[in-house]
Amino acid sequence: MPTRPFHNPYAVRAAVIALCAAALAVGCTNTRGRSPQPRLSSLVVPVVRQPETPLAVTVEPARPEGMPVILARSKWAETAPIKSRLSPMGKITRVTVHHEGMGVEEEASLDAVKESLCTIQKSHLNRLHAGDIGYHYIIDCSGRIWEGRPIEYQGAHAGDSGLNRGNIGVVLMGNFNIQKPKPAQVASLRVLLNYLMATYDVGVSHLYTHGELKPTDCPGRYLQTEVDRFRGELRAVAKK
Ligand SMILES: [Zn+2]
Repeated sequence: MPTRPFHNPYAVRAAVIALCAAALAVGCTNTRGRSPQPRLSSLVVPVVRQPETPLAVTVEPARPEGMPVILARSKWAETAPIKSRLSPMGKITRVTVHHEGMGVEEEASLDAVKESLCTIQKSHLNRLHAGDIGYHYIIDCSGRIWEGRPIEYQGAHAGDSGLNRGNIGVVLMGNFNIQKPKPAQVASLRVLLNYLMATYDVGVSHLYTHGELKPTDCPGRYLQTEVDRFRGELRAVAKK
């Protein structure tokens, strides 16, 4: 196969030298009647140098297979847990699903969700005298999963210390007595529950909604239906 001249570095160098010589011969100015000379700068391949200081690159740590993307607490929390008010989680034996229940919620920006999480946390710290936001995970209306109270601490979501013992609290933003959970929320809830139940060896009979642990209208009838459907599917798979 014939060598194409400009793929050969020696041919490139020879061409540049020839053009330099031509430019010098005409005094580097165009002369009427002559063909315009190509500008040298257009022939020089720019040299890309490695930066002396490596660029800062953020690399997300690899997630184990099946682990959902969870936005770290550090992405939203401005207040650290008050450890003196917290108890260790101990052995995890159950997971409980809640709705936030304040009002109708819609998809919101990251900043808006951060603000909501800070408001919930303040309310739990001040009104309930809790050591932190009560839930371990929060799922917003876009299906983003946020880390709440660190899992090493017992939650404050189910009613009392006995109900909270070994109990992971998962809350979805919205009021599911008056709105349906968004499909993205339900999808994230399923992924998160699968992950938590597999990680902590929690069986389907230990996946609860708040209303199943104590009399309350949480998590709302529409979310209750979703949890019922999910448990039904898990039980059907287990029978196979
Ligand atoms: Zn609840």
